Amino acid sequence: MKPESTEHNNVLIIGGGVIGLCSAYYLSKSGAQVAVIDKGEFGHGSSLHNAGYVCPSHFIPLASPGIISQGLKWMLSPTSPFYIKPRLDPDFIRWAWHFKRSCTKENVDRAMPLLRDLGVASLALYKEFAAMKAFDFDWTERGLLTLFRSEKSKHHCEVEAELAHKLGIRAQMLTQSELQQLIPEVEVRAEGGLYFPDDCHMTPAKFVEGLAGHLESGGVNLVRNTVVSGFKVQGNRIVEVKTSKGNFSADEFVLAGGSWSPDIARELGVKLLIQAGKGYSVTIERADRKPAIPLIFSEARVAVTPMGNAIRFAGTMEIAGLDTSITHRRVEAIINSIPNYIGGYDKSDFATAEPWAGLRPVSPDGLPHLGRSKKHSNLIVAAGHAMVGISLATITGKLVAEIAEGRKPSFDLTLLDPSRFD
Ligand SMILES: Cc1cc2nc3c(=O)[nH]c(=O)nc-3n(C[C@H](O)[C@H](O)[C@H](O)COP(=O)(O)OP(=O)(O)OC[C@H]3O[C@@H](n4cnc5c(N)ncnc54)[C@H](O)[C@@H]3O)c2cc1C
Repeated sequence: MKPESTEHNNVLIIGGGVIGLCSAYYLSKSGAQVAVIDKGEFGHGSSLHNAGYVCPSHFIPLASPGIISQGLKWMLSPTSPFYIKPRLDPDFIRWAWHFKRSCTKENVDRAMPLLRDLGVASLALYKEFAAMKAFDFDWTERGLLTLFRSEKSKHHCEVEAELAHKLGIRAQMLTQSELQQLIPEVEVRAEGGLYFPDDCHMTPAKFVEGLAGHLESGGVNLVRNTVVSGFKVQGNRIVEVKTSKGNFSADEFVLAGGSWSPDIARELGVKLLIQAGKGYSVTIERADRKPAIPLIFSEARVAVTPMGNAIRFAGTMEIAGLDTSITHRRVEAIINSIPNYIGGYDKSDFATAEPWAGLRPVSPDGLPHLGRSKKHSNLIVAAGHAMVGISLATITGKLVAEIAEGRKPSFDLTLLDPSRFD
């Protein structure tokens, strides 16, 4: 007999970020009774105040040739956009070893077509969400512009444009005056740019909070402020999750805990290679002047997104554990980079802006973990989306539903196997 506190659902999702919420949407659409548990408010992890790009143009994984030597140079600067804090933590050491092994041309060549396919499919699903008009999330189809200042970055952009063409993604190199015509709202100071006309963007907080409300009104059980702390397992099946508010049983379990997923998986004896990649954003809530198209400052690795009345600047990747404290000099470095690329902003615009930090769940090879666990037959892992978790959330949710239903997934997911590093 079940204890009184046990609640039963068809599917129980652990983690209510954009990945857990999108999974809940497609699972409940296919008729499942779904519950989602989050230790805090829904969507308030990494999914909240990020740059909001939905960008099939991000088809090159983070783990790529050159990143190690570039990363080592950056590590010497306290204001650089990339930092790995060396730690004597066995999980970190294992992750770092696989990260280094993944920084090869072969890994990039293998990953790119899949990232493109998932990105294109995800964007099409976002368009369906926008057309549904169930909630507003500032969906905007204006493309994405990378701005560069140096010859070296120009060359990188040319290579990226060539790769994009090979993958069937529209991309166009632009001169400074062509850039200025495209974004007349701000003074362009960069030397030139690379334009991806098919990328889109949105306000991520509106998406996750709107989706959470939509799910709840559709009967999905959203369990807030509830920490998953353990599991009851029989044979190779999970029977229950133990939480701070009682036990929950289900037929299927989905692990979508973002950067916290390895800690949760450890309770099941599952090793999941994910490190938190901290990033910051800082938002001017009422911006009179802003480019209509989102920008990336190439050398500074800063993302700029117009969001309704606001403009957001985001950047930095600090691999330094599960820590959301703000390193102010790195936030200042984001703000200080702005006048090198566009005019019209100065430090006083940020006087009342509160910096935000989020933890990207970074896998060693730049690909998410998505698929059934080898160890537990009723566990689906959906975590590790790093810099493209917003971008790939809708297709991830759809794939989770397909896996749970026992259907053949719409894409070959071999490269995303959560046990690929075992
Ligand atoms: C500065 C910055 C800019 C970014 N820009 C973009 C962008 O433009 N486009 C893009 O695609 N991606 C972007 N990203 C990445 C994107 O934000 C992430 O990939 C994505 O949000 C990950 O979603 P998630 O649902 O896996 O994780 P999260 O949103 O972190 O959700 C995980 C959830 O699990 C919950 N949880 C954890 N442990 C437990 C537990 N024990 N019990 C219960 N619940 C638990 C947490 O509370 C949290 O809500 C950016 C990230 C940052 C930091």
